[in-house]
Amino acid sequence: MQTIRVENLSVAYRGKIALQRVNLELSAGKLTGIVGPNGAGKSTLMKGIMQLIKTQSGKIFYGEQPLNRQRQKIAYVEQRQDIDLSFPIDVFGVVLFGTYSHLKLFQRPGKKEKKLASKCLEEVGLSEFANRQISELSGGQLQRVFIARALAQRAEWILLDEPFAGIDAASEKIIIELLKKLRDEGKSIVIVHHDLHKVTDYFDEVILLNKDLIASGPVAQTYTTKNMEKTYGSEITQMLGVGGAGFAT
Ligand code: ADP
Ligand code: MG
Repeated sequence: MQTIRVENLSVAYRGKIALQRVNLELSAGKLTGIVGPNGAGKSTLMKGIMQLIKTQSGKIFYGEQPLNRQRQKIAYVEQRQDIDLSFPIDVFGVVLFGTYSHLKLFQRPGKKEKKLASKCLEEVGLSEFANRQISELSGGQLQRVFIARALAQRAEWILLDEPFAGIDAASEKIIIELLKKLRDEGKSIVIVHHDLHKVTDYFDEVILLNKDLIASGPVAQTYTTKNMEKTYGSEITQMLGVGGAGFAT
């Protein structure tokens, strides 16, 4: 298990700062939440880690190596609004795509890959949806399909941007239980999340972000009233009601 290390990451869009000199280490084998207000740079941090955007500065390491050389170890699912769901592909096809990173150039997935894809679909409980078009899935099912794709990729890390946005409570519960199980089996999971009431229940570690890194580390030491006020402003405790957000201290 390798950690992901972010060194001095700065991102600006058209001259406007979105992330400012962020240094942090993501612990392997944990469920980590990235928390912060709208526009805080949470999605930018994930894209920066995956090196999908232009950065002002910064290096990303996977263990001791530049992350770029180990990209297939990390699966990333962007915010749903950024995914083209009109693309004509069925559930099995999406999961099978996960196996491509282990194939040689121009090699097509064969029996072995198809078997793996089936197994991964089974693991997320969606075997009977294999032939369904992705446009015909609920938001929660779609997230599970992407998790299955990550498993087919044999990714060690799974990065999910707002997987619970617009999803009903029952589906959210199925997904978080699935992610906790994968964490217990040794995967490392990182989630952009904005429902503050769930932080202590869901995560081992938390990253508080508002352009600057405010704090990061184990929930008990990091998810404190003081840090949350630094992240959201002093109104946050009032808004949530004292104790309402279940801050650690
Ligand atoms: P979050 O995910 O925390 O809501 P984002 O990382 O999406 O925040 O965005 C951080 C800031 O950067 C916001 O002010 C947003 O408007 C801006 N931003 C994000 N993506 C772009 C883009 N492609 N072009 C211009 N500005 C962007
Ligand atoms: Mg976002």
